[in-house]
Amino acid sequence: MHDHSRIRDYPAAIIATRRSIDLAVRHKHRFHVLHVSTADEIPLLESHGGLITSELCPHHWHFHVGDYDRLGTLIQMNPSIKAAKDNQLLWQALLDGKIQVVATDHAPHTLEEKSQPYPLSPSGLPAVENYFALLLDRASRGECTWNQIASWTADAPARVWGIVGKGRIEVGYDADVVLVDPKLTRTIQNAKQWTKSKWSPWHGTSLQGWPIRTWCNGQCVYELDPSGDGIMHDQGVGQTGIVGSIGGARRLTFDHQRGGYWSTPDGIGV
Ligand SMILES: [Zn+2]
Repeated sequence: MHDHSRIRDYPAAIIATRRSIDLAVRHKHRFHVLHVSTADEIPLLESHGGLITSELCPHHWHFHVGDYDRLGTLIQMNPSIKAAKDNQLLWQALLDGKIQVVATDHAPHTLEEKSQPYPLSPSGLPAVENYFALLLDRASRGECTWNQIASWTADAPARVWGIVGKGRIEVGYDADVVLVDPKLTRTIQNAKQWTKSKWSPWHGTSLQGWPIRTWCNGQCVYELDPSGDGIMHDQGVGQTGIVGSIGGARRLTFDHQRGGYWSTPDGIGV
């Protein structure tokens, strides 16, 4: 299993990121680097104004090659997971604003698929369901602020992708809100996962700070009942009445300097 990180090694990640950034800078085109996995990429992301933005996934600050012995193909990812030192430095880059967005690269392969011997096993893991609690736990331990979490998961993605009417709690914006209980402690369990793949690489991890209610477009889509089991409401998701009218009022502008359409007047770091 360790071969995966030897095949998809540091140079693979660094060369890909450097080449892409060089091209973006040469053509003055906005570029967002997905899945930063090595500390060595961090200096490449800096000093481009708002032209280059980037994103980090929770597995790349949580897991390192030493975890292959325990988790095997469950943490087989592309880009591969790296060393414990990378975990720490990538988290620090997020704190320092050198990386602006937290995303998940959610890939809900089944345990059956993952149990095939490497390299028949697919790369990717389910992460979208627990990434927010993983962040809230960091905040409850004083390792980041609530405002940083809101920025990494809502405000910055909306700016990076020019998503109209999203990313902040403000008049005129969509009513997408997550209510969290910063004191609630729960343990991630495979059997309780909503994802159809029914497992998490963080199975058995106890976290403090959990979402207890979620609204999308003003509709409650998730709530945690007093027994500690979550309830999903799927009515209302995808209804767009209010969104359409408010979204339509926001102008998109094409910015040649940064490349592409933007709904916000400036990009990250500009
Ligand atoms: Zn991906």
